[in-house]
Amino acid sequence: MSRLQRYADYVSTLRAAGVPLASYACPYCEHVLEARIPSGDEEPYDTLTVCPHCGCLFMQWTWADGHTETKRPGGVA
Ligand SMILES: [Zn+2]
Repeated sequence: MSRLQRYADYVSTLRAAGVPLASYACPYCEHVLEARIPSGDEEPYDTLTVCPHCGCLFMQWTWADGHTETKRPGGVA
């Protein structure tokens, strides 16, 4: 199964379970990706993410209000 297919399955599983999702753009290829939104009493999620489209690695944060940020790793890639 391709990385993109696994990602699509993951997102559709979350969506079917009623998990709230936030959309954000990959900081490299700008494809729109989706991330789980934490509930209000949780810390923001921070995740090391591999873009299923371009394969690049980046940090991604999601807050309870659906706000997301991404950051490319500093220094050597
Ligand atoms: Zn990408």
